[in-house]
Amino acid sequence: MTLRARFGLWVGLMMLLTLAAFGGFVYFSVSHWLFANLDDSLRSGASQLIATADIDGGQFQVSDDPVTLDPALTEDLRSHGLSIQIFGTTGKQLQAIGHDVRLPLEPASLDEALAGRSSFATRADPQGGGSIRTLTQPMTIDSRVVAVVQMAQSMRAVESLRERLLLSLLLGAPIIVAAGVIGGYYLAGRALRPIDQMAATARRISAHDLTERLGLPPTRDEVGRLAGTFDDMLGRLDDAFQRERRFSHDAAHELRTPLAAMQSIISVIAERRRSPAEYEAALADLADETDKLRTLTEDLLRLARAEASGPLWETVDLGELVPDVVDSLRPLTDADRVALTCTAEGEVKVIGDTDALIRLLVNLVDNAIKYTASGTIEVTARGLPEVVEIEVRDTGEGIAAEHLPHVFERFYRAEESRTTSGTGLGLAICREIAHTHAGEVDVRSEPGAGSVFIVRLARDPRPD
Ligand code: ADP
Repeated sequence: MTLRARFGLWVGLMMLLTLAAFGGFVYFSVSHWLFANLDDSLRSGASQLIATADIDGGQFQVSDDPVTLDPALTEDLRSHGLSIQIFGTTGKQLQAIGHDVRLPLEPASLDEALAGRSSFATRADPQGGGSIRTLTQPMTIDSRVVAVVQMAQSMRAVESLRERLLLSLLLGAPIIVAAGVIGGYYLAGRALRPIDQMAATARRISAHDLTERLGLPPTRDEVGRLAGTFDDMLGRLDDAFQRERRFSHDAAHELRTPLAAMQSIISVIAERRRSPAEYEAALADLADETDKLRTLTEDLLRLARAEASGPLWETVDLGELVPDVVDSLRPLTDADRVALTCTAEGEVKVIGDTDALIRLLVNLVDNAIKYTASGTIEVTARGLPEVVEIEVRDTGEGIAAEHLPHVFERFYRAEESRTTSGTGLGLAICREIAHTHAGEVDVRSEPGAGSVFIVRLARDPRPD
């Protein structure tokens, strides 16, 4: 069953239960009120009658009747549908006024009345269907019962009112429930339409084409947010897929170069018999190429690992880490030609992944050493209010303007650097690490004057 059909049915069911509870309450409270009202009018009629009756007045035609009733009052009561019967203490009917006067006095009611108590009773109407409500009350002189009055009123009006109420409730409820089901079904359909669109978009998407988007107008409701999140996710997937594709393409391309070189060394040497010296030279060339391959695959692995596994967060004091790294790389410099210095300014503690930060520093300082034949290299860790900055400034060969925007791309190497060792992955790794530390890395450079690499790291890059 579809979600919207289920929603419609749930709304219907809830309405049915609510209506049943509410209808039941209305029905029973209205019936109770109607019957209580009927009893009240019987009671007030009887007490008015008794209060105004001239008991033992002796004016009545029936010779042994001790009661004279107020004619205006009896007329008034009769016009309100009340019937009055006066019985003697033996149960003999003395007076009868009104419509329902053929009801004999029940012995139980007579006994109650003779005992001085009034009693209500519901009895079948002898003139037809329906019931009659009666109130039997004693008339007394000096606490002596001299007659019994029985007030009666047909319950037909009350009963038919109650029936009509029940009928309205029973007829109205299915209509309201049906309207609820249809309304719920329609509303759920409207609310869920974007989800249908999402399903259709998801069906159209393949790994080769992640450009599809829902593009729904942004709304603040749950479905609107879901649609927005869905589009964002598609965007991220698209980026990731494109990066992966470029990466494998570039990696294959880079691996091919040393492999092709090895192949040509082998085929040249295998052409004919060679002297031991030639074999040695060929082996040395092969070793060089193997070395390149190894560095390349190691860098690739590192990059893949950095993307796959999350960082290991800990507190890193760059005031200690930076000098350590710089000192470990110092042997690579020619102390006579290059001055390598290191300073820390301000509070330079960050939350970060130590191994990754070491790799970042090694790559930057190693580059500065590689591309600075003579001059100075200054490494500075600087604590700023919001971030911590690491600056690696050299007075080396610099980077030409046309290469500058590309140096952070994977496998990118400026033409003139082809002679130095390297894979072109170092700065790409640096950028990746800076990003995982909620930071960035920038470069400024002037050919012939030197380069400045600036890394900005958030003090606490951990996601919330
Ligand atoms: P590589 O392995 O070639 O050093 P990188 O990704 O580390 O690869 O650097 C990419 C390119 O950026 C290098 O080939 C080089 O042309 C240039 N580069 C990087 N650092 C410097 C620097 N300090 N001075 C001059 N050029 C640099």
